[in-house]
Amino acid sequence: MVAKGVAANVSIGGRAYPIVDHTFDVVVVGAGGSGLRAVVGCANAGLDVACVTKVFPTRSHTVAAQGGVAAALGNMGPDNWKWHMYDTVKGSDWLGDQDAIEYLCRNAPEAVYELEHWGVPFSRTAEGKIYQRPFGGMTTDFGKGPPAQRTCAAADRTGHAMLHTMYGQALKQQTKFFIEYFAIDLIMDSDGACRGVVCLKLDDGTIHRFRAALTVLATGGYGRIYFSATSAHTCTGDGGGMALRAGLPLQDMEFVQFHPTGIYGAGCLITEGARGEGGYLTNSEGERFMERYAPSVKDLAPRDMVSRAITMEVREGRGVGKRADHAHLHLEHLDPAILHERLPGISESAKIFAGVDVTREPIPIIPTAHYNMGGIPTNYHGEVVRKRDGDPDAVVPGLMALGEAACVSVHGANRLGSNSLIDLVVFGRAAGLRAAELVKPGDAQRELPADSADFALSRLDFFRNANGSESTATLRERMQRTMQSHCSVYRTGDVLAEGVALINDVWRDTANVKVTDRSLIWNSDLVETLEYDNLIVQAVTTMESAASRTESRGAHAREDFPERDDKNWMKHTLATIDRAAKTTWIDYRPVHSYTMTNEVAYIEPKARVY
Ligand SMILES: Cc1cc2nc3c(=O)[nH]c(=O)nc-3n(C[C@H](O)[C@H](O)[C@H](O)COP(=O)(O)OP(=O)(O)OC[C@H]3O[C@@H](n4cnc5c(N)ncnc54)[C@H](O)[C@@H]3O)c2cc1C
Repeated sequence: MVAKGVAANVSIGGRAYPIVDHTFDVVVVGAGGSGLRAVVGCANAGLDVACVTKVFPTRSHTVAAQGGVAAALGNMGPDNWKWHMYDTVKGSDWLGDQDAIEYLCRNAPEAVYELEHWGVPFSRTAEGKIYQRPFGGMTTDFGKGPPAQRTCAAADRTGHAMLHTMYGQALKQQTKFFIEYFAIDLIMDSDGACRGVVCLKLDDGTIHRFRAALTVLATGGYGRIYFSATSAHTCTGDGGGMALRAGLPLQDMEFVQFHPTGIYGAGCLITEGARGEGGYLTNSEGERFMERYAPSVKDLAPRDMVSRAITMEVREGRGVGKRADHAHLHLEHLDPAILHERLPGISESAKIFAGVDVTREPIPIIPTAHYNMGGIPTNYHGEVVRKRDGDPDAVVPGLMALGEAACVSVHGANRLGSNSLIDLVVFGRAAGLRAAELVKPGDAQRELPADSADFALSRLDFFRNANGSESTATLRERMQRTMQSHCSVYRTGDVLAEGVALINDVWRDTANVKVTDRSLIWNSDLVETLEYDNLIVQAVTTMESAASRTESRGAHAREDFPERDDKNWMKHTLATIDRAAKTTWIDYRPVHSYTMTNEVAYIEPKARVY
């Protein structure tokens, strides 16, 4: 079936592709927390906005976020956005851009109250205020005070509550949703500006060309480059793949956060909120080993520390289970009523995926790929930036990136738990505000060149007809196993060098992929191949960036370079690719070591003290 309004039939490789044209002020690719917040902001500004999404909006990975959203509301004790900023800078291991971090922390309370007014059913204190729980790395009084209770929660289903509420708001604004449309590639003009995006409508195989004054990539993370990941199967970093193919760099790809508590075997997340409520870890000797690694904050140490501590225990032969390769998380000492009220979702996950009743026995857990700090570089308005003519922060006209797809960079070398959900809404809102400044409703747009869909269609056509010898599933598994074994919690020069060779082999072998289904209607073989093609370039840039950085910082821990080296490495990595030659270039960009206003001073790096 061909959709109405077909403007042209483009012929690629002798095959005709019907194209449907659309024009909008703004097109947002992605309906997760960041995409929906941007959509609502643009619609509020009177802009005609389209939201394109490959899955139904409320199935975006944001729905899985459990623990909560950070904002210094001070509902449970004294708090201050400046303390939140201090913790975030320190958590980022000084790689975060301090202007962006200031923007995040000072705007966080307003963004949370806005969610509350829109209807997010937050858990409540006895006085009816938003309930806030402690999360790792969140402290008071610039790290000198006790842990802060800063993470606003809707039980252990905060992302679910936020996503559904924002979807409701977007519907209220009569947003035009294009659901189950798969964005293939950006339309870039010869001046380097973005003019829109080309998509495949999954249920009828028509090609849709969206022309827009602004294109916003809110496509989520690329966790699926790893074998064990907490993220959904749809987290294939499609935005990052599109950016790389458009010749743009990806930033700080070597920084991948491993969550210490994925369920052993399944990878599903057990929220840090479980430890926030009093859960603790033990090894095969029953020892609470975090007391040795982080004597003051213990089980609430930042994620990278807890992940490395578990890996260390396993390496030294104190892992639990038949293979002595994981650890135990205990909740059975907690009041069952509290478990029922505050952690119902994880109690259910533990039952389903580990067969464990959390009121009686510990949950088997293992560090699992959880969050990508790296992504498409942007400023704090959400505008994509690249290095040009000596300017490290030159804006790419017409293009924005948000959420986990972006690297704004507030998380730097490591993200604090609950700082991503707040990143989605603060910068989603910022993007809407910026869009209102840059675009006037109905502004005339230049015609797109006749060949503007050719790049996207050639790639689609290549994979649709690919008749090599390796299936997508085989290539994907090789990629995932290589990343898991050569680029996870512990890294050394030798292991990374081997990883670089292996992952580049997989990339080269992609030319030899085999796709069996040639149709264009619900062709999951083809879509998975397009997703894999997005993943592999991010796997390569992650490995290459990690091999280049000869220091330890945040989530990037090198056994051969155990110290942070601010003199040589206080800089963002930029990785670009040449698809034809299958090569990667590494370059660098300065960290913004200045703040947004004069209200806070630049926070100096100090020794790591947790
Ligand atoms: C299990 C889990 C628990 C978490 N818990 C927390 C927490 O408690 N607190 C916290 O702060 N953070 C948490 N995080 C992190 C946080 O949830 C994510 O970083 C965040 O939700 C990502 O949101 P997003 O808007 O960037 O993208 P997503 O929610 O991943 O949405 C991506 C969107 O892009 C669309 N899309 C992607 N590719 C295409 C394409 N090619 N064409 C069309 N559409 C496309 C998808 O359809 C989807 O709508 C958690 C993450 C996980 C995995």
